[in-house]
This record gives sequence, structure tokens and C-alpha cells, in this order.
Amino acid sequence: MRLFARTMSSFTRTVSGPWNFVNGKRCNPLHPDGVMKVTEPATGKLLCEVPKSSKEDVSSAVLEAKKALGGWSQLSPRERGQMLIEAGRIVRNNVEDIARLEVRDTGKPIWEARVDILSCADALEYYGGLAPGIVGQHIQLGGGSFAMVQRQPIGVIGGIGAWNFPMQTCVWKVAPALACGNTFVYKPSQFTPVTAVTLAEVLSSAGVPEGVFNVVQGEGEAGAALCHEPDVSKLSFTGSVPTGIKVMASGAESLKTVTLELGGKSPLIIFPDADMKNAVKAALMANFLTQGEVCSNGTRVFVHKSIAKDFIDKVVTATKKMKIGDPNNDETTVGATIHADHAQKVLDYIKGAKEEGAHVLCGGERVILDGPLADGWYLSPAVLVNCTDDMKVVREEVFGSVMSVLEFESEEEVVQRANNTNFGLAGAVFTKDIQRGHRVANTIEAGTVWINNYNLYPTEVPFGGYKHSGIGRENGWAAIDAFTQTRMVYVEMGDVDCGPLYQD
Ligand code: NDP
Repeated sequence: MRLFARTMSSFTRTVSGPWNFVNGKRCNPLHPDGVMKVTEPATGKLLCEVPKSSKEDVSSAVLEAKKALGGWSQLSPRERGQMLIEAGRIVRNNVEDIARLEVRDTGKPIWEARVDILSCADALEYYGGLAPGIVGQHIQLGGGSFAMVQRQPIGVIGGIGAWNFPMQTCVWKVAPALACGNTFVYKPSQFTPVTAVTLAEVLSSAGVPEGVFNVVQGEGEAGAALCHEPDVSKLSFTGSVPTGIKVMASGAESLKTVTLELGGKSPLIIFPDADMKNAVKAALMANFLTQGEVCSNGTRVFVHKSIAKDFIDKVVTATKKMKIGDPNNDETTVGATIHADHAQKVLDYIKGAKEEGAHVLCGGERVILDGPLADGWYLSPAVLVNCTDDMKVVREEVFGSVMSVLEFESEEEVVQRANNTNFGLAGAVFTKDIQRGHRVANTIEAGTVWINNYNLYPTEVPFGGYKHSGIGRENGWAAIDAFTQTRMVYVEMGDVDCGPLYQD
């Protein structure tokens, strides 16, 4: 096993294969199952061709992860932590290059990609720092006997990610899992294969040994194969509810534990005493980052009737000022939708909303840009009013830049309406009344509630969903709980007392 054999912080800075990463190096699948043609969202043109990993290739990667488990888990947590901190340093020093790769993969604006990649550095450094603090317990029992509760890794982790935050989703799983001594096989989304392999190269440069982190590329079949692997002990999944249900069902076959980060339809509640400018800024953050392709988005914006007109005027004015353009330009705030089918789905939701009686005050249309960007799917961010709770656009996750504004009159009414959904990922309340802020936050059925802000996820705090939005938590100490299991060792200091069972 190679420890601290640090090379220069070398990783591939262009979009080029091979695309799998197994046993410490980029490689092609040995038994490819066809090729994925990946489109660059910004241009609508071919970005790369990625061979799909077959079931055999997934099994080989899992085998390498299993072989690496003994050595990795036996290192001191401090040694593992040092490598993660080093990986964080490499990411931090190369934010611009990695962010540019993320833009090519996702079509999101470069300023956002920089934030995402910096958050990857944060997570690597945080879990690197936390690693030596992952300790067990000593429990004193009677007669001098005692128990030790040891925190152990779970084994080989299978990770599967969505396409909206490709590297961040991967790091949120891999950093805590590796800190705890697990090894990993990750399958990125077919739409965004690029930066998981970048992460693999960064970890390798930081000294992480061969086989500890592996990447297999493919579509749903490769993900399903990973879920069925008998040597994978835990599945950590980010994606839609229907796929999450399949992942959980296949994990159940061999009693794998699962963490599921799924979709949302979160409420953002604005009371009359809210700071209006901050509420407007938060509504933009809650709806229009990454072309609206954000799981925790506050797409149901409940505004008190008394301030609705003012809020709507201001939010529409601000939305119209957003700059649709080349995601590589610093001034762009609306990039390209991930692919044509998804853009069409978003446009269909807007069409359906109009048919149900909603009014579109701005946006909701395809914008065709000049030159090489002409084939990208750029949608203008939409603000919908005259919405009702029963409309499809208000009930279902659109995953596009579509804000539905709903009016309310009382706190009791808005809380009931906010919770009237099967989702429970996030929510927010805007008010200057500290008691109302806490009272409402305490009643929102969601894993994350912001008071007077939106869509912030510091690494230090847990993130995950209630109800159909997921199971388990990522980030913070919660991820350490998720990637460890405890073993109790009872130490008897006296004689065995078995009552009348034994007679001298
Ligand atoms: P999908 O559920 O379609 O796909 C997610 C991942 O699962 C992809 O890598 C996909 O592969 C893979 N997959 C597909 N079928 C299977 C299967 N049968 N078994 C195992 N894996 C499979 O979601 P999207 O990629 O479209 O992502 C959007 C969704 O993700 C939204 O609902 C969003 O809310 C949610 N999300 C949740 C987040 C959270 O933290 N709560 C964060 C980000 C997104 P492939 O794409 O290659 O077919």
C-alpha cells in the first residue's frame, strides 16, 4: 500500500478519459457495455464519449475497494485525516481549474461552480480535521468490569450521485466515509461524468492509497449493479424519489444500510415584518441558483397578502435583471439547463401551470444565444403568480427556474399549507419577530429550516430530508454516525456469575 507517496498535485485539467478510476489509476472498463455520449450543456454539442461499465466492471471496482479496506481502516485516523486535509488543500489551490471543468459538465455559471468547489475543499478539510476525534466510549460497569464502545468503519460504500452538483455530491459522501476508514466505489450521473474522476486524482495526489476510492461510469444499470453488489455494505444515494426507492429496495436484499438524499418542494414563508430586500434576495437564491436544479429550492414562496404586491414587483424586477449567457463568463447568472429533455420538462410545467390559471410575470421561455451557444438550452427564470396549492407546478418538483408565489393571511394557515406535501427537505421563514421565527421553524416538517436566509449548507451542519425527501443525514457529525458502526467489547474483571446454572 502506498502511503504519502505524494506526487505533484496532478490531475487532468481537460475533459478527457479514460473515465473510470480503479485501483489508483484512470482506466477503461474491461467489459464495456456501450458508450455514453455526454452533451456539454452550454453548447449542446458532444462533450465526451464515456464507456459504460458493465456489471463485471462494477464488481472489479468493488473487489479493489474490498482489498484496500484492511490497510486503510488500520491507519490511524490522524493519518487518514492528513491525507484528506491535503486533498482539501489541492482543491482549494486549484478552484479555478476544477470549477471550469464543472461548468463544462453542468452548464452552471462559473461564479457558482467556484462556490461549489470551495465547499468541496471545506468538506475535505473538515472531515480530515475531525478524523482523529472519531473516538469511542468507555462505560464503567459493576465490580470493576467495563465496556468499550468502538467506532468501526462499515466496509465498502457504494455511492451514486445526481448531476446538479457533481463534485460536491461526491465529496459530501466520500470525505466522511474515508475519514471513518471505509473504502468507496462511486458512480456519477451519466450526464456529469467529469469531476468524480478529478476528485479521485486529487485524493491519489494527496496520498490516498490505491483502491480506497474508485469511480465507475455508467447509466442506471451500473448504479443498479452497484446496489446489488454483495460486498457493498452501505449505499449512499443522491437523486430522485423513484430511484431512491429502487436503491433502498435493492439494498434490502442484502441488508445494506442506506442514506438517501432525495427531492424536495420546499416552502419559503415571508411575513409582513420581513426585511423586504433580504426576502427578495433569498427568493432568488431559493429558486434560481444552478438554473433551478437544486433539491432544496424554496419553490413555493408563501408571501403574506399585505406585502404580496410589493414583494412580487421587486422579485420580478430582480429576476429580469439576471443575466442569461455563457456560463464561463463572470457576469452570467443564468447558465444552461442540463439537457434538452430536461429543459422541455421545465417548459411543460410552465405550460401546464398557465392552463391551470397561473400567470407568468416573467421568463419561462427558451432563449437562443448566438454562435457556439446556439444549441444550448437556456431558459429565462420564471415567476408565477395566481398560483394555488393544488396546481401541478406547486405540488411537484420541477427542478428548473420556476418560482410559484402563493399568498397567505395567517401563520396557522401558512404552516398547514407549507407542510401539506410528501416532501420535507427544507424550508425557510422570513420575519424580524424572533419568537415567530422560532415558532414557525419548529413546525416546518423538514430536515433543514433557515430563519432569514436560504440555501446555505455549511459542512459543519447536518443536511437531509424528512418524509419522502430522504433517510439519514450528510455533513456535520451526522455523517460520522452514518459511516460508522459501533462494536461493544465487554471486559469482565471478576468471575462469571451464571446463577444456579453451574453447580460445583
Ligand atoms: P435520478 O434519480 O434520475 O438519478 C440519480 C442517480 O441514480 C444517477 O447517477 C442515475 O444514473 C442513478 N440511477 C438511475 N437508476 C438507478 C437504479 N435503478 N439503481 C441505482 N442507481 C440508479 O436523479 P437525477 O440525476 O435526475 O437528479 C435529480 C434528482 O436528485 C432530483 O429529484 C433532486 O431533487 C435530487 N437531488 C437531491 C439532493 C439532496 O441532497 N437531497 C441533491 C441533488 C439532487 P444515470 O443518471 O446515469 O442514469
